[in-house]
Amino acid sequence: MERNNAHTILVTKTVQQVRDQVRAWKKEGLSVGLVPTMGFLHQGHGSLIKKAVEDNDRVIVSDFVNPTQFGPGEDLEAYPRDFEADRAFCQDLGAAMIFNPEPKDMYQDPKAYVNIEGLSDGLCGASRPVHFRGVCTVVSKLFNITGADRAYFGQKDAQQLAIVKKMVEDLNFPIEIVACPIVREADGLAMSSRNTYLSKEERQAALCLSKAIFKGQESIREGMAAKDLLDLMGEVIGQEPLAKIDYIDLVDARMLEPLDRVQGKVLVAMAVYIGKTRLIDNFIWEEK
Ligand code: AMP
Repeated sequence: MERNNAHTILVTKTVQQVRDQVRAWKKEGLSVGLVPTMGFLHQGHGSLIKKAVEDNDRVIVSDFVNPTQFGPGEDLEAYPRDFEADRAFCQDLGAAMIFNPEPKDMYQDPKAYVNIEGLSDGLCGASRPVHFRGVCTVVSKLFNITGADRAYFGQKDAQQLAIVKKMVEDLNFPIEIVACPIVREADGLAMSSRNTYLSKEERQAALCLSKAIFKGQESIREGMAAKDLLDLMGEVIGQEPLAKIDYIDLVDARMLEPLDRVQGKVLVAMAVYIGKTRLIDNFIWEEK
């Protein structure tokens, strides 16, 4: 695939700018990949962008802290932002465009939202009731704005990925969803823009999430029953005084329905507070 990082990456702010550029690309018969992000990019985002650059002629990274997916009292204002660093990062990886709208460019007194039933009730949806309506709405808008052929999502946000796949299936969006594995720091912590909230002590304490994930993977491989598995993972987290569990659950990987035993393709997912910072991690296990 031709890389175009010899060119300066195009920065777009408005829906119209994106549409005009994509129309020109499509006229040339070029394929378009989309990587939706909230910015403050790290190597986790980088892995999605690299894969998109491999698969497509042109790649659009959207860089937008989407207000509709934050509930009252959540970290919308505090969410870290560094557009100049993001722009340089995307350019280095060969993306063709970075779309960085203002909230007013995306939402003008909206009355239409995209909702998904069932899959958004549990896991993160239980403590973040408006979150997935905001995600589905902004992702639908980005699909419609960019007309991308493929969109790239991280397994890190496993519930989001399952929801987006089901939404695309149910609403017949003409787009392929590509899932990318979780990228971790050398010591195991899943990369996240929110890791920047952690103090030095909390950063160390946050390792209990990946420790529990690795322990869970090992135990499921050895045939441990679902309840014992969740108890064991809970114990690993429980040993860390700065950690408070929001949830640890085992669900069906596609429809996210709770399971009381390990069967088929399962998702083991957790959210844990380290101090005030809520972190998530997960793994997928498929019976062979
Ligand atoms: P965010 O900016 O946190 O909304 O994430 C944008 C996209 O990057 C989502 O599809 C995430 O799942 C993905 N992502 C974030 N962190 C990671 C990671 N550590 N590994 C893989 N993908 C990630």
